[in-house]
Amino acid sequence: MKVSWFHRYGDPEVLVCEDAPKPVPGPGEAVVRVRAVGINHVDLDVRAGTSRVPLRFPHILGREFAGEVAALGDTAGAYREGDRVWVSCRLPCATCEFCMSGRDNLCERGGYFGMDLPGGYAEYVKVPLSTLQPLAASMSFEAAAASQIAFGTAWHVLINRGGLRAGHTVLIQAAGSGIGSAAVQVAKLAGARVIATAGSDEKLALARSLGADDLINYRSNENFAAQVLELTGGKGADVIMEHIGGKVFTQSLACLRTDGTMVTVGAHAGEVVPLDIIPFFRKQLRLIGSKNATTLELRQVMNDVAEGRLKPVIHASLPLEEAAQAHRIVGSRDIFGKVVLIP
Ligand SMILES: [Zn+2]
Repeated sequence: MKVSWFHRYGDPEVLVCEDAPKPVPGPGEAVVRVRAVGINHVDLDVRAGTSRVPLRFPHILGREFAGEVAALGDTAGAYREGDRVWVSCRLPCATCEFCMSGRDNLCERGGYFGMDLPGGYAEYVKVPLSTLQPLAASMSFEAAAASQIAFGTAWHVLINRGGLRAGHTVLIQAAGSGIGSAAVQVAKLAGARVIATAGSDEKLALARSLGADDLINYRSNENFAAQVLELTGGKGADVIMEHIGGKVFTQSLACLRTDGTMVTVGAHAGEVVPLDIIPFFRKQLRLIGSKNATTLELRQVMNDVAEGRLKPVIHASLPLEEAAQAHRIVGSRDIFGKVVLIP
């Protein structure tokens, strides 16, 4: 089978398309013919070696993918060869305290495809049957590969961790990113007023088309916090999704409403920031960390996509052979939505 993998850490060029043995399913496993795989920023970090995850080379990336069941290890289970499926990105241990309480996103023993297990940058992937999820006829493979992580994470951040509800005003940073464009839609679905930031007027226009109510260009207007305060009558946002870090983190806290909640879910622009503690306690603010969604939340958002309430935004689809170019696109700022590879 064809696979796009890398033999050492490095720039996008280390991704090479080569032949590899097709996996064979064992008991309790299936092999999925991958029809589309979504690229996530974590893929770039793993490839570059910055995420400090020890790998066995050659390594196959690809956390979220969809396709058809190509082979089954035994006859047990609800799936048949040819069934359309999406594969949940994580393999929870199912026995730890987090898995037992429905918070399998916090499981420390389970693994992720493309990190701990070979991922979807390949024609075929071997998966445990427990990770197979039926793919609705209304959803394309590309849509499925572009939806799971962006919408799942946005849902977990805003609804589960941020407590966002109808009537709230939410500030969504970098609305042009995969998670940002998903968050705008999730927030509108929840009935919130959305203030979206982005680095270009073109991206802001796209954010508007997804439902954003107010727009701030953070490149032409460095003091976005003042603008948020102006837009909210001096009160600030009830909930903020912050995934940039650095100065954006500090400024975001400055336009959080009294008793408001800021959820942090990324820090590419700076991982260590100053924090003024006095306004933090006087305004009784909440700062909450978040990671990605639980399996139950993944199913919820994929159902919302299947039924048309959430619409994945796909910036580009490229053949598997162009994985290096796809990484360059995701690493650049000229992107709105997700990039998908087609094996
Ligand atoms: Zn667990």
